[in-house]
Amino acid sequence: MPSLYVHVPFCQKKCNYCAFFSIPYTGSKTFSYLQGMEREIHMRLGEVSGKIASLFLGGGTPTVLSAEELEGLLNSLELFAFSPQAEKTVEANPGTLELKKLNIMSGYGINRISLGAQSFNDLLLNRIGRIHSAQDITRSVKLIRQAGFDNLNLDLMFGLPGQTLSDWQETLQKAVDLEPEHLSLYALTIEPGTPLACSLGEQSYEQSYSLGSAVIPDDDMQADMYELAAGYLRTQGYWHYEISNFARPGFECRHNLSYWRGEDYLGLGPGAVSCLNGMRCKNVEHIYKYCRLTQQGLKPVEDSETEILTQKELIFEYIMLGFRTAEGIDRELFARKFGRPIQDIYGEVLTHYIDKGIICSEKGRIKLNPAYYFVANSIIKDFSL
Ligand code: SF4
Repeated sequence: MPSLYVHVPFCQKKCNYCAFFSIPYTGSKTFSYLQGMEREIHMRLGEVSGKIASLFLGGGTPTVLSAEELEGLLNSLELFAFSPQAEKTVEANPGTLELKKLNIMSGYGINRISLGAQSFNDLLLNRIGRIHSAQDITRSVKLIRQAGFDNLNLDLMFGLPGQTLSDWQETLQKAVDLEPEHLSLYALTIEPGTPLACSLGEQSYEQSYSLGSAVIPDDDMQADMYELAAGYLRTQGYWHYEISNFARPGFECRHNLSYWRGEDYLGLGPGAVSCLNGMRCKNVEHIYKYCRLTQQGLKPVEDSETEILTQKELIFEYIMLGFRTAEGIDRELFARKFGRPIQDIYGEVLTHYIDKGIICSEKGRIKLNPAYYFVANSIIKDFSL
């Protein structure tokens, strides 16, 4: 079953590290966006066949929209045929969350909130340019529960400028104290062109570790932070089901699982990516271009970024995403999907990593040993075709 991603490209203020596509929230742009979105929904309804298994309203910051704007958007999305058990997530920022907005979401069947907490240390939050405090996170979680949501994710970041192992441990503890069903952990990456990169003189990560008096944790420290989190969350009853994701049993994010399993998805909104039947395309980012195209009855797709994926690309993506998950790659499913056993394509490299204990082959599945999750990218690149 396909999934649906809807991009809300507005934020109250740009975070210092952010390279996602987002622009400042303003009334006139939001009005144009919502009009464009309504037109895009009508235009692209037919592109997905069958019921939609999951919705993810992300951004940007969907909760920066006013209650009325959010309601209008959710109402427009009702045109899609969702499975009765569909997982429907809205990404929220603790600085923009109100009970009124949560009640509207709940009224439209949203059943999962993903809260961008990032840290429970106000100094670190301030250093990375977040608009909220640790107290705002706690307040937001209370509101989320009050509105009746029983599926909550907290996003946390590690490797922040000046962050120590004990700061990170404290953030993890405070997060767990709030009893979220799911936690996503991301290492800070210095993206070119962001204020954080500029404050480092746009030098590469290896060349400069300083930000004022704060030091950016190096790779070894980040690896220690990752290990600390994985070990601690395991003792707290969280299942490490994907490199960056932990969940109480039964609360794995179905939307993300569908990406990792290589299933189809439709992306709506400026900058959103779709991948349907082996064809990937990206929407235009510029908001007025997006609106103009939809007004002309044209799909707001960037022609230069539309590609039909080759068999080799599809196989590599499937491998790359499959190795991120604890369930790994099902040999039989792989052979059915690509018409050849995985061993025929990757025999040598697979044997090499299996012999070293880095990849495990058991019960018809091939999985990355969790001890190597933090360096997964360097292993996966050996599978490129
Ligand atoms: S809230 Fe999220 S999308 Fe918006 S600027 Fe910050 S990191 Fe980027």
